[in-house]
Amino acid sequence: MRFVCFSQDGSSLFGIVKNDIVHGFPESVATLGAYLALDPNGRDALPTHAIGPISEVALGPPVHPHKNVFCVGRNYMGHAEEIARARGTELRLPSVPTFFTKAPTAIVGPDATIHLSGTLSSEYDYEAELAVVIGTRCRDVSERDALGVVFGYTCLNDVTARDLQKEHQQWFKGKSLDETCPVGPWIVSADEIGDPGSLDIAMRIDGVTKQSSNTAHMIFNVAQIIASLSAGLTLEPGDTIATGTPDGVGFARTPPEFLRDGTRMEVEIAKIGILRTTVALSPAR
Ligand code: MG
Repeated sequence: MRFVCFSQDGSSLFGIVKNDIVHGFPESVATLGAYLALDPNGRDALPTHAIGPISEVALGPPVHPHKNVFCVGRNYMGHAEEIARARGTELRLPSVPTFFTKAPTAIVGPDATIHLSGTLSSEYDYEAELAVVIGTRCRDVSERDALGVVFGYTCLNDVTARDLQKEHQQWFKGKSLDETCPVGPWIVSADEIGDPGSLDIAMRIDGVTKQSSNTAHMIFNVAQIIASLSAGLTLEPGDTIATGTPDGVGFARTPPEFLRDGTRMEVEIAKIGILRTTVALSPAR
């Protein structure tokens, strides 16, 4: 099942996509959070009404976490190698996942134009990532049970101001500017994805493939990430986890390539779809 957030007559609603037609839930279930608060019977009993073809519906971000988006850094072998190469440092693989977060105010939906300040940063970069959406309140989840707490998966672009990421030491600031977390276009339920560890993942910049990998190349797989993150830390329905990006990011290229005004970014993940975003970069003052 594909779950979407969309706007109609000025209100934001939640629903599903069947045969490329959006079907909305009642206004009382206008968000993923409200949907996840229902028990399975309540979900099955929800009435829906046809809205229209998905191509004609304005989609919003499918997730609205009330806390930061959890992220994993350096989680693909190729990306860890390119970072070491670009920085001239020795390749050291983490023994546990490197967690950081992005502010929820950074989230934007599919087909968004994101407004970036050329004064604040001259090094905006892209990162194609598989995002995990938690469906069940949980803590201390074992690797074996980890995929059972997942509601679904979506595409995420961890847009990063590299200069700020470096300057501020902690990554938070450089990862959390407004509109730097495109998510979508929808959530595909976990049962439809099956194994999240065998999905092709790519990033195209202005139509040119810059990242092309498979989630099989993660250093820590989805189950290991959930087990590690939830150890002594409660995860709640709707919490979103970005699972890291493969190699091919802009700053590690020779010469480095950063986002420009008008750049079109496309994150594509098998079984999910394509998350499209356009950059509006204001000139430096
Ligand atoms: Mg990232």
